[in-house]
Amino acid sequence: MTNNPDRGNNRNKYKDKNKNNNTEISIIIPIYNEEESIDLLYSQLDQTLSKLGLSYEVILIDDGSTDNTYTKLVEIHKRNSNYKIIKLRRNFGQTAAISAGFDYSRGNIIITLDADLQNDPGDIPKLIEKMKEGYDIVSGWRKNRKDKFLTRRIPSILANKIISRITGVHLHDFGCTLKAYSKDIVKNISLYGEMHRYIPAIASSVGAKITEIEVRHNERKFGKSKYGISRTIRVILDIITIKFLLSFSTKPMQLFGLLGLGMGVLGSIVTLYLIILRVFFQQELGNRPLFLIGIFLVLIGIQFISMGLIGEISIRTYHESCNKPIYSIKEILD
Ligand code: UDP
Ligand code: MG
Repeated sequence: MTNNPDRGNNRNKYKDKNKNNNTEISIIIPIYNEEESIDLLYSQLDQTLSKLGLSYEVILIDDGSTDNTYTKLVEIHKRNSNYKIIKLRRNFGQTAAISAGFDYSRGNIIITLDADLQNDPGDIPKLIEKMKEGYDIVSGWRKNRKDKFLTRRIPSILANKIISRITGVHLHDFGCTLKAYSKDIVKNISLYGEMHRYIPAIASSVGAKITEIEVRHNERKFGKSKYGISRTIRVILDIITIKFLLSFSTKPMQLFGLLGLGMGVLGSIVTLYLIILRVFFQQELGNRPLFLIGIFLVLIGIQFISMGLIGEISIRTYHESCNKPIYSIKEILD
């Protein structure tokens, strides 16, 4: 999650080679074991994209599939050179696959979608239309979502409410892969873990203009979902990370220092009170759990403050080592 102008060497070489391109649209599709969907995916994409009247590329990322996916992708690439294939060495996960696609994309508008045809390639023109109104991100909203109610839709509704609340970015469906991004946004964001759903939240922190439109959603025709209920827990953990990064990543001391100060002061009061009892009123402290609690609070307080200081040092190292400013410029008139 960085504003990083100078990333891996290979990627830079690739960018240099393609500096003078005029690709307008890049479509990025992460694919893991979806052999049955690929042919249909290609025909639906082709139908939509060939009518678009814009120059485009489709980047299909094989995320370490163990079925026939890659062979199918190679066939498509041979048939149509607008379709580029990236094969990852193993299964790195959907976020990593999308991130690879971002790195190698050249379009001014970049659109992600799933390979299993749950997203409808036919919605792509609608996203592009909306982007042309001047948005940095147009997010799909699967209003009529066709997934299991109890294990997928309910957790998703809750998660979306929480993420909206915490990040201040009000979207109904962060989890929808079908989204359009402007090149500026994509090239300045690095993704970690399973953070692709949070790109709008991350982007909002640098002032991106974000909106959502309703998109279609279909039941999975072939194969199985790669995720189960356990994703809910991971999504919740990610919310904590996002909240921390959005609010405190440039000022960790404000969080840890406050916690540390609170605990330290409370612990000091408790300990002082007990010391007064001991010194002036000759009370025994050995059998008072409060004494232990007081000392613990003071120690934890010191720990938190130290963590805050270490955090302050690491953010300085981080910003300066990757040349990342703490602001983000939209344009300069010089
Ligand atoms: N996917 C991937 N790597 C993974 C898991 C999934 O590239 O490790 C791809 C998958 O092939 C699909 C998309 O990510 O194109 C969404 O996955 P899935 O349909 O299983 O998720 P769901 O729609 O159930 O949320
Ligand atoms: Mg799916």
